[in-house]
Amino acid sequence: MKAFVDKNTCIGCGLCPTICPDIFRMDDDGLAIAEDIDIPEDILPSAKEAEENCPSNSITVDNM
Ligand code: SF4
Repeated sequence: MKAFVDKNTCIGCGLCPTICPDIFRMDDDGLAIAEDIDIPEDILPSAKEAEENCPSNSITVDNM
């Protein structure tokens, strides 16, 4: 499973790095970016939580 952030819709609220700092961080442009890695099993629940709680539905966690 990988995480993806759609920067076209991210509003830069900063929630996802707070929920799942192992995968998400804020980029230099003030928008979120996801690590391009296969999400470890123990981190997957928090990555999914970030996906579910993103206010602009900009996060996808899926098999990519
Ligand atoms: S939670 Fe959503 S809107 Fe907020 S920074 Fe992350 S991707 Fe962007």
